[in-house]
Amino acid sequence: MSDKPKLAMYWSASCGGCEISVLNIHEHILTVDEVFDVAFFPCIADFKVHHVESYPDGYIDVCLWNGAVRNSEGEHMAHLLRQKSKFMVAYGSCAYEGCIPALSNLTSKEATFNTVYFDNPSIDNPNKVLPTESVQVTEGELTLPTFWNTVKSLDQVIDVDYYLPGCPPEPPQIWAVLQVIVGALLEGKPLPPKGSLVGHSGVAVCEECPLEKSEKTITKFFRPYEIVPEPGVCLLEQGIVCNGPATVGGCGALCPQVGMGCRGCYGPLPGVEDQGGKMLSAIASVIGAGEAGMDEHEIERQIEAVVDTIVDPAGTFYRFSMAHSLLERAKVNGKGE
Ligand code: SF4
Ligand code: SF4
Ligand code: SF4
Repeated sequence: MSDKPKLAMYWSASCGGCEISVLNIHEHILTVDEVFDVAFFPCIADFKVHHVESYPDGYIDVCLWNGAVRNSEGEHMAHLLRQKSKFMVAYGSCAYEGCIPALSNLTSKEATFNTVYFDNPSIDNPNKVLPTESVQVTEGELTLPTFWNTVKSLDQVIDVDYYLPGCPPEPPQIWAVLQVIVGALLEGKPLPPKGSLVGHSGVAVCEECPLEKSEKTITKFFRPYEIVPEPGVCLLEQGIVCNGPATVGGCGALCPQVGMGCRGCYGPLPGVEDQGGKMLSAIASVIGAGEAGMDEHEIERQIEAVVDTIVDPAGTFYRFSMAHSLLERAKVNGKGE
């Protein structure tokens, strides 16, 4: 390899969207190619783990890690790449805060296996075969990683230098962050403080959203297919759950502008520990129920009736932030780990 800075990108428990998002920076990818040598990037080039193991510690300048950590292989790779990299970036929501994979923290490993291998309508598994961690074949032993009960964000496993939010991060934000890294590596420009969340706007998605906002009083929530939103009007005011008030911007409020409530993929606002809790309090403040002089129990009943129209509250408010939430995981069958 040349003496150019070394770049790695690795996927753990992820969907692949984050890898694709790097290519979405369009012609800037040529600059990335010009500036960096790729040292490890299994999605696009045939690198093996033993290549990484052979590198001296700190050989990789920047490792973009996407995906949550869900099994022993992810944990091993996280430690290995931490050791070999100067800067570890938790790239995208799965790495930053657990994202979709961490929704399984609402249940157990056993329940997940049951769903995937037994109760799945597209599965034909009459002998109830489950994957095992070790099996002997003529050629020797085949092994699989240990599947954990709890999905973790990257910083729950190793030390992380920077976080880039989004599911996936948006191209202008990715390019801005890469420019900062390149400026630091090639020109000695300062980097943001370690531990920074980079590539976001610092204000709520609502601040970036051009939809008109006025007084909100909601008596029923709708799923997107149940309503045709009035153009130009705040979706939350129309009863479409929108996590914009509790989500940090940076995407330019992409989803509300096409009639979909913000799902919260950029994560919580700076200083907010629990995005779901923040959104629940935003929702609580706009529920229209009761009237002056009404019995307290009747008001409570009316509030519950409105809240009950939100289908899957945990999946709606913690879709991206479960591993990083105050809850982290639900206690299932007496197990909290
Ligand atoms: S953050 Fe979103 S796009 Fe990236 S790997 Fe996770 S699910 Fe996929
Ligand atoms: S649509 Fe969503 S993001 Fe836009 S102003 Fe309303 S609540 Fe905020
Ligand atoms: S509007 Fe919300 S869900 Fe959509 S990209 Fe932006 S932060 Fe993510």
